[in-house]
Amino acid sequence: MPVPHRNNLALAVLVAAALVALGCVAAPQPEDQAGGPARPVATTTRAAAPKEPLDPDVDGTDTVEEFRSDVDDARSIAEKYWKDQFDKSGLDFEPVAQLIPYERDGEVGCGDQPLGLNNAAYCSAGDFIAYDANWAFGAFQDIGDAFIFYLLGHEYAHAIQRRLNIQKQFTIEQELQADCMAGAYIGDMEKAESLRLEKGDLGELAAGLDAVGDDPGQPWFADNAHGTAKQRTRAFSNGYNDSLEPCDLT
Ligand SMILES: [Zn+2]
Repeated sequence: MPVPHRNNLALAVLVAAALVALGCVAAPQPEDQAGGPARPVATTTRAAAPKEPLDPDVDGTDTVEEFRSDVDDARSIAEKYWKDQFDKSGLDFEPVAQLIPYERDGEVGCGDQPLGLNNAAYCSAGDFIAYDANWAFGAFQDIGDAFIFYLLGHEYAHAIQRRLNIQKQFTIEQELQADCMAGAYIGDMEKAESLRLEKGDLGELAAGLDAVGDDPGQPWFADNAHGTAKQRTRAFSNGYNDSLEPCDLT
């Protein structure tokens, strides 16, 4: 395994990440040339700075080197996880083509949609995950390394949806499934001892996720709906506890 017991993935920290990082939107894109589904999708995750930064020494996530290492680990663990899943199903697996950090507004585009700051996205037109490097590093410092694993796990899930030609009718369905898949990725790789979680973290994760979710007035069918706190908690927990089966990838 890429990093057995090195990444002390603290879900206590992931709770805080969830508080600020679960927003995603899907934007219409021009058709790509891959011959896949007709609607390429940019799926983004936005986050503001946490209101009360956690102690940056909680899990020792301070330096650019650690950040880069965690990004690489989160990516390679996600690749290993999904390759194993595809292998089990007799499917060929293609890793996400690129992971692209950027620093300026609009520096990277998905189709003709420029990607903004404080953002991460999976872009099906080009098959890449892009992220605002300064924002992600800031969140890594303020929140912790689990943020990076959640971020990569969620965006990678969108890439997997694309590979499986899963295009739900509503954004909320696409997002909750990605939460479930991110939960499965973290939970299964913990069981495989590629990641280590701290005792009690799950309860804290549940409590944290309870605080996120769409505003009460958000219609569930809205283009940018992600799910209520309860729905998101349930989706992530289902995947974390029971792997991919509850994610309903078929
Ligand atoms: Zn998403």
